[in-house]
Amino acid sequence: MMPDSFELGPIRPPSEAYSLLIRVTKNCPWNRCQFCHIYKGKKFELRSVEEIKQDISTAKAIQDRLKETSWKAGYGGRVEEVATAILNNPPNEAHFNVALWLYYGGTSAFLQDANTLIMRTPELVEVIKFLKQTLPSITQVTSYGRSKTAAKKKLEELIELRQAGLSRLHIGLESGYDPLLQYMDKGVTAADHIKGGRKVVKSGISLCEYVLLGLGGKRMWREHALETAKVLSQIDPDFIRVRTLTIKQGMPLYDEIKNGNFIRATDEEIVEEEKLLIEHLDCHAHFVSDHITNLLQEIEGKLPEDKEKMLAAIARFQSLSPEERHNFRVGRRVGIYNQLEDLDNSRKHSLVEHAIQKLGNDGNQADDETIYSLMERFI
Ligand code: SF4
Repeated sequence: MMPDSFELGPIRPPSEAYSLLIRVTKNCPWNRCQFCHIYKGKKFELRSVEEIKQDISTAKAIQDRLKETSWKAGYGGRVEEVATAILNNPPNEAHFNVALWLYYGGTSAFLQDANTLIMRTPELVEVIKFLKQTLPSITQVTSYGRSKTAAKKKLEELIELRQAGLSRLHIGLESGYDPLLQYMDKGVTAADHIKGGRKVVKSGISLCEYVLLGLGGKRMWREHALETAKVLSQIDPDFIRVRTLTIKQGMPLYDEIKNGNFIRATDEEIVEEEKLLIEHLDCHAHFVSDHITNLLQEIEGKLPEDKEKMLAAIARFQSLSPEERHNFRVGRRVGIYNQLEDLDNSRKHSLVEHAIQKLGNDGNQADDETIYSLMERFI
């Protein structure tokens, strides 16, 4: 009998929220980055091609049952109504994932976990081909990969993966500054990032590089911004996505902060860091800030033509009075504001004022620690 569920990993990029999730490896083969807690304490495992194919077949069986239910209920095979019922009361996470994927068109799949490229190329090619044959509505297949692994693959292997159907790789660049990469135990150098990234670009696989704002802390923020811009300009990826450093217990960096070895930058300092990064980017990427942790999510656009517009959003934040900047930071972190123009909404503004009164120890201002912890509720 066909199983009723399949393996799911813990994370996917925000842009893959509606993708079918297929777990091709488990956990992270590196697992040493100081700022990452996702897979700590969990052992990396390769999964066999047969196991992965079984999961894909199970996803198809769940999809087919949903379609059958739709026919029986008189919806003519359309899945939206049936998917909504499953989403409201899913029997398990696999059903929830399939229903969400179908509800949003059923066109994309994301291969989990942290570094799919570590699979042997012929096996990964087999998995991707099977996925596309079994679920032909899928037109986009994406995954996470590490720069170092991409750098080690032959260009011909990456081309083979693209031809099999791998459309995009998401790589955690985090920084282009070698001393910071070393301090964070990222296990790659700027040169690895450039080599791996350029190879992916050359293979024709779309590339999304992730930058971790705030990673330089108070000591290395300037070099972090400048060297990251330099590395990204040499890679020239299709997308640059930023997210902001958050700290959780279980991360080695948590202890570094407690010991006073790493001093976090404030939101305002991170905005200055982001400004420096954008000013020095010389590439053609789409710059995206869609992560919930980012203070200014409106900093988006196509480089180089939208650079001025992006910098204008930063200038607007920096030109606010200290009280208004504080109001915005708290408003973002409690989820009342989405973007700077929300400051003009008097109802939202007074809601934030009220929140500040409640949060502040002295009845006036919430301190940085409080604002960090508000942000960290979201991850
Ligand atoms: S490589 Fe990625 S998943 Fe692995 S520890 Fe580093 S940040 Fe976490």
